[in-house]
Amino acid sequence: MKVFKFGGISINSVERISNLGKILQFWQEEKILLVVSAMGKTTNALEKVVEAFVDNRQDDALQLFDKIKKQHITTAKYVLVTHYLPCEKKLKDFFTEVEWLLHDEPQRDYDYYYDQIVCIGELLSTTIISAYLNEIGLSNTWLDVRDIIRTNDDFRNAAVDWSFTTEKINEVVKPSFEKTNFVLTQGFIGATDENESTTLGREGSDFTAALFANVLDATDVTFWKDVESVMNADPKQFETVTPINTLNYKELIEMSFYGAQVIHPKTIKPLQNKNIPLYVKCFIDPDLAGTIINNQPLHQLPPIIVLKEKQVLLKVTTKDFSFVGDHEVGQLYGMMEELHLKPNLTQIGAIDFTCVLDDWPEKIEKIAGKAASFLDVALSRNLSLLTIRHYTEDIIDELTKGKQILLRQQTTDTVQMLLQ
Ligand code: ASP
Ligand code: MG
Repeated sequence: MKVFKFGGISINSVERISNLGKILQFWQEEKILLVVSAMGKTTNALEKVVEAFVDNRQDDALQLFDKIKKQHITTAKYVLVTHYLPCEKKLKDFFTEVEWLLHDEPQRDYDYYYDQIVCIGELLSTTIISAYLNEIGLSNTWLDVRDIIRTNDDFRNAAVDWSFTTEKINEVVKPSFEKTNFVLTQGFIGATDENESTTLGREGSDFTAALFANVLDATDVTFWKDVESVMNADPKQFETVTPINTLNYKELIEMSFYGAQVIHPKTIKPLQNKNIPLYVKCFIDPDLAGTIINNQPLHQLPPIIVLKEKQVLLKVTTKDFSFVGDHEVGQLYGMMEELHLKPNLTQIGAIDFTCVLDDWPEKIEKIAGKAASFLDVALSRNLSLLTIRHYTEDIIDELTKGKQILLRQQTTDTVQMLLQ
């Protein structure tokens, strides 16, 4: 059994949906669990609905939601003929679920409503995709993942109850494969034991796919993306990038630790634990090699570059020239943890402690303010943090040319530099 995950971009137009159909036609003899995200920018659009609703702007919320409804109905009309009516009925049932809620006044907090409303994106997209696959002769079983993935009620960042979920996958998902080769469900969402919808964090569909792969003991997982493969740097930031055809989980964990946004970090463990290879393939051209990620040791990798912009340097110095100690540093770490800020680089000296953080202005001001009561504090903003794994002197020179290096930390395989 395989797991395929299709992200929002892979189904954001009629052409792309038909392209997905073509990819799956090629695989129709295989048993595949399909995990699908919301179409295009639907999740962002639903977030706007939530904001309006919680802000008591009910009319705005309904109007914004109306747009989303129309988009889905239009797409369904374009891609479906004989399967249109039953699909429309199902879409309308989901619309009603949200509208019923929007007609009330908000009683609970933002995160709760977020999950009740935003989860619809995946339910709508999978309803259309399932009908479309049936329309082109690819029979499939559509499952509401909220009946399978049980989570706690930490809305917007819900944690999965693995033992309940495993039981449900065995009970519901496995038997579905006796009826159809394709079983189709939603990424990103789940439900509590009280049937409240939950979400697993933005871009959480990757994690859903990994979870299913783990429990189903899948032979492999494929993430269908709009890129040729995993690259050694973000093509939006660098002109020349090199494809990486083979990677391993350890390197991938390192890359995401330093801030590369290749694959959702939560995704890696469920796959690595069961030694399940992950393919990253291009849905625009499935013949391209893509990337395979597994547990094999790697010998040769190109320099891997991660550039984080909008960094702030926080430097604290003891007021009386005494050594900076565990106590002060501990207090700073405590404040960062409270604000969910993770330092991207730290350095400790005799009388000072330096750390580099993402610039969330309000949070930074808070820390700086509090720290100023017992330390001298200096902030510098608008910096960038460059990390190069498997570096060479040439690449360091090339990427730092004309820039001032404010801080540099280096191990045998990774160099980090704070640049101005
Ligand atoms: N639709 C959700 C998002 O945009 C989940 C996902 O795409 O993985 O964040
Ligand atoms: Mg997405």
